Amino acid sequence: MHRRLVLFDIDGTLLKVGSVNRRVLADALIEVYGTEGSTGHHDFSGKMDGAIIYEVLENAGLDRREIAERFDRARDTYITLFRERTCPSDITLLEGVRQLLDELSELPGICLGLLTGNFEKSGRHKLKLPGIDHYFPFGAFADDALQRTELPPIALERARRMTGTNFSPSETVIIGDTEHDIRCARVLDARSIAVATGNFSSEVLAGHRPDALFENFAATGEVIAEILNPQS
Ligand SMILES: [Mg+2]
Repeated sequence: MHRRLVLFDIDGTLLKVGSVNRRVLADALIEVYGTEGSTGHHDFSGKMDGAIIYEVLENAGLDRREIAERFDRARDTYITLFRERTCPSDITLLEGVRQLLDELSELPGICLGLLTGNFEKSGRHKLKLPGIDHYFPFGAFADDALQRTELPPIALERARRMTGTNFSPSETVIIGDTEHDIRCARVLDARSIAVATGNFSSEVLAGHRPDALFENFAATGEVIAEILNPQS
């Protein structure tokens, strides 16, 4: 039996969220700080929600201390507005994802989790709308750290507490659509699988040398073979 801990990114990997996400963040920041900063044109890909809040406000001239003072309120306002306003039609599940999760969850020895830049409550809402939240009993989220590369050890520890299994880095696979996801796998010495369904082409992702690379997850059998790859 292959034993694998499989950690999925959310945005650009499992699903895409329409423009509602950017609008909600802008409205939350205007409510709490009086400005949306650079939210309108900022690159969110692969970044932690908490770090995004700091970056877009620093671009408007706020200093980190000012941002930190009202950060918890801004996070909570964003989460509340996101859950109020985002509906099923705002979420597009990416090709092959439901079948991939269905098949993986049936395999013995496979533990599925999340490794994402989302705050847990807004990230889980994204997964609940298309009905895939139940595949992920645990995860590491933006609530846990400001830097994504701090998340892999947190995810491993949560997997150990939930399953009683100490997954080694070589039994761990991190799946995502950006160089940041690939880097997370590298800090842990885990295996990385990149998918070009987010904002980055397979040519760009290949430059960051993931262990495997897919245009999308339509060929679920090939993706599962890579997850179970004994070379890892
Ligand atoms: Mg992503």
